[in-house]
Amino acid sequence: MKEQDAKAGEASGREVGPNFVRAMVATDLQEGKHERPVTRFPPEPNGYLHIGHAKAICLGFGIAEDFGGRCHLRFDDTNPAKEDQTFVDSIQEDVRWLGFDWGEHLYFASSYFQQLYDYAEALIEAGKAYVDDLSEEQIQQYRGTVTKPGTPSPYRKRSVKENLDLFRRMRGGEFDDGSKVLRAKIDMSSSNMKMRDPLLYRIRRQHHHQTGDEWCIYPFYDFTHCLSDSIEGVTHSLCTLEFENNREIYDWVLDNLDVPQPQPRQTEFARLALTHTVMSKRKLLQLVNEGRVGGWDDPRMPTIAGMRRRGYRPEAIRTFCDKIGIARANSVVDKALLESTVRDDLNPDTPRVMAVLRPLKLVITNYPEGEEEHFDAPNLPDDPDRLGARSVPFSREIWIEASDFMEDPPKKFFRLAVGKEVRLRWAYLVTCTGFVKNDEGEVVEVHCTYDPDTRGGTPPDGRKVKGTIHWVSAQHAVDAMVRLYDHLFKVEHPDQDPEVSFLDELNEHSLEVVDGAKLEQSLGSAKVGARFQFERTGYFIVDPDSGPDGLVFNRIVALRDSWAKLVKKTGGN
Ligand code: ATP
Ligand code: MG
Repeated sequence: MKEQDAKAGEASGREVGPNFVRAMVATDLQEGKHERPVTRFPPEPNGYLHIGHAKAICLGFGIAEDFGGRCHLRFDDTNPAKEDQTFVDSIQEDVRWLGFDWGEHLYFASSYFQQLYDYAEALIEAGKAYVDDLSEEQIQQYRGTVTKPGTPSPYRKRSVKENLDLFRRMRGGEFDDGSKVLRAKIDMSSSNMKMRDPLLYRIRRQHHHQTGDEWCIYPFYDFTHCLSDSIEGVTHSLCTLEFENNREIYDWVLDNLDVPQPQPRQTEFARLALTHTVMSKRKLLQLVNEGRVGGWDDPRMPTIAGMRRRGYRPEAIRTFCDKIGIARANSVVDKALLESTVRDDLNPDTPRVMAVLRPLKLVITNYPEGEEEHFDAPNLPDDPDRLGARSVPFSREIWIEASDFMEDPPKKFFRLAVGKEVRLRWAYLVTCTGFVKNDEGEVVEVHCTYDPDTRGGTPPDGRKVKGTIHWVSAQHAVDAMVRLYDHLFKVEHPDQDPEVSFLDELNEHSLEVVDGAKLEQSLGSAKVGARFQFERTGYFIVDPDSGPDGLVFNRIVALRDSWAKLVKKTGGN
């Protein structure tokens, strides 16, 4: 067992042993059941991957890595009506971006259609499957309820010969869509509803993104999945808890066919759910299709593509998956844990810069007009040797954050107000002397004087100055658009109340576009994908929407550390 597993268990507090799946795999290998584990990640290509899938990916690929096995990427593509090549492509890109490699083991369930068909005939020949003419509704009615056993279909008694003939003609395209299905003949009174003669095949004339128009019958999940695992030599078939009741069918199909031994075994683990988020692909698709978000990669989306565009690094997502661990009971993880993981990931090596999001002009009235000087500002103040420094220009007119000035400040306000002295980060101490208002009564300019003896921000007489604010020289400033994000949903559990549509829980303030932010000069050459910490306001990434018209930044995550603490650590600068 790895140390990381033990830690994961502690962090979640819900762990059944130190990652029960890894423990199970280790035991199976020790007992000689398999030489090495083979796992798979089986997405249906009907949407983009989300953070929940990342959990499954980290588990499957992680086990393969830890035990010298392999993990397949298999598209579970049996429902062409909802699937699309763009999803096939995006899924591969996202798994790769997370840092995992399936090597040559890229598979499609659809490439097993012939084999699956042959297995279906074998089941029919063994008297264990039959063609049913009941309608969808009738099948529902005949199935019974949890408390009432089902009723056998009148077609259940068909002979092997008739079933085989009908199934072949289903495949041959002789029957209308939906007019017949192939069902397993198991037990209509089973206490597990899923075992009441589950459907194996349906007729559906639908073009398939991989097999074209070759097939007009398509196998269902319960028949396809176990056999695909078996065909690929999967040892451990890991899936989420909602498939628990399907395990019996999984085993039944394999037990009743002549498949290679040992058979794969299904094990379920808890789905990941996050606060302020929906994770169902159907709902995410709806958000995209209805234009409620900018697309699958909207930075507010819980999709891998969205998080990538938001500026999260794959390492952060993997660390997060380690932290939440693998449990056997569903629970909801606080999104704050993801955000703090992202912060911890960015903190050690993201350059610090100054950027003013909502600018207010500050005029240093005793600073000579037309003069400028430059300060060397370390890019990582905590570890100045690591990322070097850049030169920051200073002049008579600078931008400060509008919120750093108050006309009538409360007692504990340590930033600018008439008569108060603050430190301009890396530069000088300044004392506010006055301000100018426009006709609407808004403060449009603040005046101050600087103390030339405090160059670098340290007063020679050791006088205490509590506030330190960031700034950008007005004549050198780079204009930018900045996007700030809040939760996509205003409530923690947008899925919870069946009376309320999740769409009504959308947070109308989840995106705030700040046009006219002022950035320090060095950011003028920032490239798409570059990440920075804007001191005091958060971590930001240059968005691909940047162009000749200007830079666009996304806020990856806000800062949690209090500015005061940070300033203290960096020696009052
Ligand atoms: P949805 O129910 O929203 O359609 P899905 O689970 O059907 O999603 P799949 O493409 O079938 O999506 O999922 C592929 C794999 O990812 C499955 O093995 C599934 O168990 C796993 N998975 C999906 N969602 C989560 C989640 N929230 N947490 C952990 N694993 C997940
Ligand atoms: Mg699914």
